[in-house]
Amino acid sequence: MMTIKAAGMTDVGCVRKHNEDNLLVDPSLGLFVVADGLGGHAAGEVASQIVVERVGEFVAQTKEKDRTWPLEYDTTLSFDGNRLKVALLLSDQAIAEDIRKNPERETMGSTVVASLLNHRRVTLAHVGDSRAYLVSKEGIRQVTRDHSWVAEQVAHGILTPSEARVHPFRNVITQALGNGGDLEIEVQELELADSDRLLLCSDGLSGMVGDQQIWDIIQNANDLDHAVESLVTAARENGGEDNITAVLIGLANDNTASK
Ligand code: CA
Repeated sequence: MMTIKAAGMTDVGCVRKHNEDNLLVDPSLGLFVVADGLGGHAAGEVASQIVVERVGEFVAQTKEKDRTWPLEYDTTLSFDGNRLKVALLLSDQAIAEDIRKNPERETMGSTVVASLLNHRRVTLAHVGDSRAYLVSKEGIRQVTRDHSWVAEQVAHGILTPSEARVHPFRNVITQALGNGGDLEIEVQELELADSDRLLLCSDGLSGMVGDQQIWDIIQNANDLDHAVESLVTAARENGGEDNITAVLIGLANDNTASK
């Protein structure tokens, strides 16, 4: 019998005064979320908080399939894909609604990466530059495609990935929840092997710690808690220029655990 194990941590970093990231770690729902708020103090953290609460609420409400569906059901996606897609659309609406009541927060928004685990199947949805990585014994692979200006330049062959990492516009994202534009929510699915780890993180981690160092830390950690602590420490040691959030997810075999 496989069960989910997970660890998550968020840290203000070394430069910012406030932490505008939020995270949700809920193994009982199989739900994991990282949201990175935009719009400055008292706005960014509100936006990312709205996202984790709204996503958690909707995923909990849709544990049973017989619920009336609040928005259009996308037949190209699985049920879990629809749960995450609608959860993100509802978060987008909830931020917009909060802005209507609190116009001083008009610039707020949030990125998000959310994953829903059902046995070995991972369903992922994201908006913006919060990332998911699949980390296996063999290596590390970025699973999500950043919705960012530099990622578009890399896709068009104008910048190389290493140029993108240090580009002055590296923090410019092309879509976010709550910003009023048309959203293109990307949903994808993958299978998790026994020793695989799924990492969700904000750009305060991925911008400070390269893929190879992330892989080394996860492979060398004794457990998931130590791994996320070490990832956050590495981001701080490399400058900690932004808020840092990491959620690490894996499978545990109950039979071996009870021996
Ligand atoms: Ca950030």
